[in-house]
Amino acid sequence: MNPITPIINGLKITLSHMFKKPITLQYPDERPKVASRFRGLHALNVSHNKAKCVACYLCPTVCPAKCITVEAAEDANHDKYAAKYEIDMLRCIFCGYCVEACPVDAVRMTTTFELANYRREDFVFGKERLLEKK
Ligand code: SF4
Ligand code: SF4
Repeated sequence: MNPITPIINGLKITLSHMFKKPITLQYPDERPKVASRFRGLHALNVSHNKAKCVACYLCPTVCPAKCITVEAAEDANHDKYAAKYEIDMLRCIFCGYCVEACPVDAVRMTTTFELANYRREDFVFGKERLLEKK
């Protein structure tokens, strides 16, 4: 074989890729398009200006990573609500079982995928942070 042939073949491949659309993104200037069914950070749903969660304990029971903490309380009308609702995102495996298990559609998963923080405790999302997620 002519020793130049592999070099020419390599250059052909390089040239052909120069005219293709790049598959990498200049993140964070360019944002990826996330699928609508992407399982990102959780959010608590709201109804009548309060969290829909009725503290039934189904999601912490079904969670395989055991990263959900719920503490139930009773309001003035003797309705149960979650006085404490926390998810430790460092342990979460984003399986979505909590969303499937919830009988009142109180928890959902958003398309938010950015989960960088400097301190371990910042990965524990309490009720307030989960309520403000869109
Ligand atoms: S997505 Fe899965 S691992 Fe994460 S909190 Fe829900 S049930 Fe637990
Ligand atoms: S989020 Fe749903 S499943 Fe979890 S404790 Fe609240 S009502 Fe129950």
